[in-house]
Amino acid sequence: MVDRRKLAAGNWKMNGLGAELAEIDALAAAHKDPSCDILICPPATLIERMVRRADGSAISVGGQDCHPATSGAHTGDISAAMLADAGADHVILGHSERRTDHGETDAGVRVKAEAAIAAGLVAIVCVGETLGEREAGETLAVVGRQVAGSVPDGATGASLVLAYEPVWAIGTGKVPTMDQIAEVHDFIRSALAERVGEAEAGAVRLLYGGSVKPGNADEIFAVSNVDGALVGGASLKAADLGGIIAALERAAG
Ligand code: PEP
Repeated sequence: MVDRRKLAAGNWKMNGLGAELAEIDALAAAHKDPSCDILICPPATLIERMVRRADGSAISVGGQDCHPATSGAHTGDISAAMLADAGADHVILGHSERRTDHGETDAGVRVKAEAAIAAGLVAIVCVGETLGEREAGETLAVVGRQVAGSVPDGATGASLVLAYEPVWAIGTGKVPTMDQIAEVHDFIRSALAERVGEAEAGAVRLLYGGSVKPGNADEIFAVSNVDGALVGGASLKAADLGGIIAALERAAG
């Protein structure tokens, strides 16, 4: 049995000014020696300051997107090398808000993930179905297509994290049943095995994301093949994310 260290990852989205870095001080003070990994992905403007603020703590810092090119004429974009240079060690890719707002495709996510991994970052690739797709019984087909199309060749447990985020559960307070989460996570583990082989698929951490809160985290973390969470709203306050981290530590045993 592969020992996958659990991961609590916060996605601040387009939230946070310098003043909010105080949350990092509180988080660091409350979780000095956690038995899981803790990651915060703030807006790009805060990455370098957050890295400095979190120095010496258990918190690592990531980006929320990167461009597939290393540098060049891409106004407003940020390369994976730039994120790494700012001190980030992870990057979220293919979040549903980027797939929707910026028309990101599986192939586009895949080249970004390749660039991220080449720059030494861990790529957190997001997949998940819309409500319409779930109601049409297409969840596994959609997620399977996203995994096959978005995960780069040669991805490993060290370079890839996969986040299952049902689009209809993000920021809505709605959460799938535990059976539904188990079904998709078990399916993703086997879809990954087809993509990168059994051994690496067994080492990749699978996060659940979508309205995770301290009050539902224990139940979610007890589900098979859930190795942590990607947390949006509840990651903005140290106390809320702290409750989720505590649940993850209980699940880690
Ligand atoms: C997310 O944005 O990745 C997310 C899961 O958001 P929330 O936790 O707010 O649903």
